[in-house]
Amino acid sequence: MGRIAYVNGAYRRHAEAAVHIEDRGFQFADAVYEVWALVDGGLTDWDGHIARLKRSLGELEIAEPMSEAALSVVLKETVRRNGVRDGLVYLQVSRGQAARDHAFPDPAPSPTVVVTVKPIDPKVMHAKSEAGGAVISLPDQRWGRCDIKTVGLLPNAMAKTAARAQGAIEAWLVDADGCVTEGSSTNAWIVDAAGVLRTRDIGANILRGVTRATLLEIAKGLQIPVVEGPFTLEEAKAAKEAFFTAASAFVTPVTSIDGQKIGDGRPGPVALRLRSLYIGGARNSARV
Ligand code: PLP
Repeated sequence: MGRIAYVNGAYRRHAEAAVHIEDRGFQFADAVYEVWALVDGGLTDWDGHIARLKRSLGELEIAEPMSEAALSVVLKETVRRNGVRDGLVYLQVSRGQAARDHAFPDPAPSPTVVVTVKPIDPKVMHAKSEAGGAVISLPDQRWGRCDIKTVGLLPNAMAKTAARAQGAIEAWLVDADGCVTEGSSTNAWIVDAAGVLRTRDIGANILRGVTRATLLEIAKGLQIPVVEGPFTLEEAKAAKEAFFTAASAFVTPVTSIDGQKIGDGRPGPVALRLRSLYIGGARNSARV
């Protein structure tokens, strides 16, 4: 079965699917996106991703392109046509196509909607991400509205490229105060010496990770003490455990930061427990 993409009302062969050269997503990164993990044929954390999509669109005054029910049908149908049971489902919504001008066009064009599905072998992915890996730190060079999930991902792409070049699986971004904001495509967590689970508080400087929110609920259910607030890079390096979360990573242990071992340099028990509870919950609650 060949890959299929949804573009503005039609299902097209992936190789032929395209948007217009004057789409504002292409010209200005004037677009938002969402990513769902597809687990055993179901989309995880549906409500959280829909709520964030609506918020991202609202912050940029892009009209919702269709109802939640219609979107659910489109995502489900794209998954079905691709014959995929595990992987990632991507949705991009741009402001649409208009003659080039920086200001938002008035009247607004119809938003452009693209849905694609990326198949992932769950066995390979789980083995790799459960083993975790190295992280490097880099200065956070992004704009002031990282809470909006836009396709303007160039600093993130540069950070990930630098991480890969050094044999690391993620880059943790550090603000002017020396505190970790988040990863290039993930939220950052540590377990400190006192056993407190720490992750950056929600502000304009991080993405409100949906996996992060679900994991906070799981941790609270386990009565693990949690603090949402800044922690320094030095605190991260001295932590008992470190890990990161995302729809594309679930809960992935960090074994070193800038070459410095975290704990004994192996995935920690808290990270592995949270990972297995998150994945179990994702299987049970996955919808579509
Ligand atoms: N932070 C950034 C910068 C991201 O790009 C992502 C995911 O794409 C996340 C955090 C994790 O968000 P989620 O858990 O909703 O996938």
